[in-house]
Amino acid sequence: NLSDKLDRAFKVLKGQGTITEINVAETMKEIRKALLDADVNYKTAKAFTDDVRQKAIGQNVLTAISPGQLLTKVMNDELTELMGGTTSEISFSGNPTIILIAGLNGAGKTTFTGKLANYLKTQKNKKPLLVADDIYRPAAIEQLQVLGKQIDVPVYADPESKDPIAIALAGIALAKQNGNNVVIIDTAGRLSVDEAMMREIEQVKGAVKPHEILFVVDSMTGQDAVNTAKVFNDRLDFTGVVLTKLDGDTRGGAALSIKSVVNKPIKFIGTGEKMEALDVFHPDRMASRILGMGDVVSLVERAQQQFDEKEAAELQKKIRKNKFDFNDFYSQIQQIKKMGNMKDLMGMIPGVGKMMKDVEVDDNAFKAIEAIIQSMTPFEKENPDGINQSRRNRIAKGSGTNLAEVNRLIKQFEDMRKVMKQMSNPAAMANMMRRMP
Ligand code: GDP
Ligand code: MG
Repeated sequence: NLSDKLDRAFKVLKGQGTITEINVAETMKEIRKALLDADVNYKTAKAFTDDVRQKAIGQNVLTAISPGQLLTKVMNDELTELMGGTTSEISFSGNPTIILIAGLNGAGKTTFTGKLANYLKTQKNKKPLLVADDIYRPAAIEQLQVLGKQIDVPVYADPESKDPIAIALAGIALAKQNGNNVVIIDTAGRLSVDEAMMREIEQVKGAVKPHEILFVVDSMTGQDAVNTAKVFNDRLDFTGVVLTKLDGDTRGGAALSIKSVVNKPIKFIGTGEKMEALDVFHPDRMASRILGMGDVVSLVERAQQQFDEKEAAELQKKIRKNKFDFNDFYSQIQQIKKMGNMKDLMGMIPGVGKMMKDVEVDDNAFKAIEAIIQSMTPFEKENPDGINQSRRNRIAKGSGTNLAEVNRLIKQFEDMRKVMKQMSNPAAMANMMRRMP
């Protein structure tokens, strides 16, 4: 695990006043190893560590931060820069804007086609139309139609046709006729790069003249992802990269290598199978993620999309007054469940990402908690402090759990309340941040 290794590497630096040639050499060796393990290719890793070393050496470590912190900062900036610095979104240059999706089988093209349409429709106010241009697998057409129905976006398909160019052109014509201002063309892939597929997609490109060609790649395939990206870019000169399957075991390294090998912006990342599991790629957040800091900003953003702002403000007030009760807790759980896959979300919390590999979390995790809260009387829900022993016994019986589970939940709730109270106080929060490693 990259962040474990980095933790170890930084230990070498702990307690030293300045970053010197000697203490940085050992650390850089560790970091280079860690980057290679995270699928960053050798040339990139070497260039990166050389660069960081140069920038770090001679920097005076302020008393407030440790050399490890300083180095993390230097590395974070450097990684961010390497991955493109800033976000790069779809450019809407035509009417309709035509987006061609390319990549190997199983990379996540069809899923991404649906996600992108959903994103453009709900976040960018666009009227997309999808074209099913994978003619080799009958199931592929149906898969796209199912997604289209789910997100309420029209899909053009012609199951009789064996001509991907004709299908794509007909789809675009239909879009013009119906006033769809974005056309996303889902294409066929192969198990590995082959000449026939490359020629076909080149021809589709020549015919439809796309404004964007997005190369979709499975981030779990590591170094292969980089090689595939290179081949596709040489043939198609694509305009952007989509990294899928960045949920679960984060192979952030692929992002770094691909960017440095093909020099095209990464535009989106896929973080799950659901239609909502799509994020705009933020180089700085990915840098933090590679460094093991967790993608807190994305988490917060996604949470904000789902939480009603007014409700959140009320909650803040309650937390500050220490009035957060089991009713609020219960509705929070419902909110969290609405936000989708628990594992996706929890993986983004710093320190939790590491643990998630070994733990299976599913929405059932809340079953017992919900049962316990439901067995409380209104008084108990509003007065967590007033739940005495006999009440606990009754709750345990009523909820079909046991006393230990009830005790644990109440204890956890109280602990959580303390932390929440602290976090709602800006001064305390700043203090906590300063003490972070
Ligand atoms: P295609 O052959 O390139 O069109 O790939 P598909 O879109 O059919 O996806 C292949 C498999 O990967 C499907 O089971 C998808 O549900 C899954 N998948 C796609 N994107 C993601 C992602 O971001 N995260 C996860 N966990 N699964 C994904
Ligand atoms: Mg497909």
